Amino acid sequence: MTAPEITHLDEATVQIRQPKASHWEAPFIFLLFGRDRALLLDSGATNDEAVFPLRGTVDGLVAKWLKNHPNPGFELVVAHTHTHGDHIAGDPLFTDRPHTRVVGTTLDEVRTNFGFVNWPDFVVPFDLGDRVVDVIGGPGHQESAVVFFDRTSGILFTGDTVCPGHLYVRDTAAFVATIERLISFRDAQRGAVRTLLGAHIEMSTTPGVPYPPGTVEQPDETPLAMPPRILDDVREALDLPGVRAVRDRYIIVRQ
Ligand SMILES: [Zn+2]
Repeated sequence: MTAPEITHLDEATVQIRQPKASHWEAPFIFLLFGRDRALLLDSGATNDEAVFPLRGTVDGLVAKWLKNHPNPGFELVVAHTHTHGDHIAGDPLFTDRPHTRVVGTTLDEVRTNFGFVNWPDFVVPFDLGDRVVDVIGGPGHQESAVVFFDRTSGILFTGDTVCPGHLYVRDTAAFVATIERLISFRDAQRGAVRTLLGAHIEMSTTPGVPYPPGTVEQPDETPLAMPPRILDDVREALDLPGVRAVRDRYIIVRQ
C-alpha cells in the first residue's frame, strides 16, 4: 500500500495526490470543506484501498474536520473534473458511505446534478455552506468535463484541461470555447482567480521537456500550480498548426 501525499493548502482545502508508486498517472485529488458539506474533486485511478486508500484518507480528514466543526447533517459530495478512468475509478469506494452523494459521470447526470440550464456556456454556484464553488462547463478534453472555481481560496481546479502536462484535445472547437470561457470568467473575477491547479504533473523543470507517459519516477517535476495568465498562452497555442504544440509548461496534443 502506498500512503497518499496530503497537503493542506489551508485548513479547509486539502490536496491529495495518488502516489506514482500506486499508478503512474498519479492524479491530484482535492477535498474542500464548507459548513454543510465537503466536496471531493475526483476519486483517483483505483478502487482498491490496498493500492491507494482514498476512502480511509477522506474518512479520516472528514472526521478531523467534524471534530473542530461539529455538524450532524454533514454531507460528502464526490464530483469529477471529468470522467476519464484515472479520475473516477475510486467512486465505488463511496457509494455505500453514509451522508454521501456521488455525482454520476454522464453528461446528463453532470448537467442535472449541478443544474446547468445551458451547456456548456453556463456557470452554476454550488454552495458548501459559507463557501461557494462556481461550476463552469468545460468540454473539449472530455465531453462532460467541468472546471471548479473556489471563491474562498481563489483556486481554479482545471482537471486535465489545463495542467503542467499533455493537454489532450479531443474536440478542438469545444476545447477552444472552454479556454475562452475560462478567460472571460477569470477576467470578470477581477483578480480573484489566484491560481490554477490541474490534475497531473507530467512536465520536468526543463521548459518544454515532459516525462513520457508511464513514467513512475519524476525527480525533477515542475510544480502543479499555474498562473491565471497561462490561459491566454493556451488559447494562442491552440491556433498553432500540427498535432503537437510544445510550450514551456505544457504540450498540446490533438487527438
Ligand atoms: Zn487524467
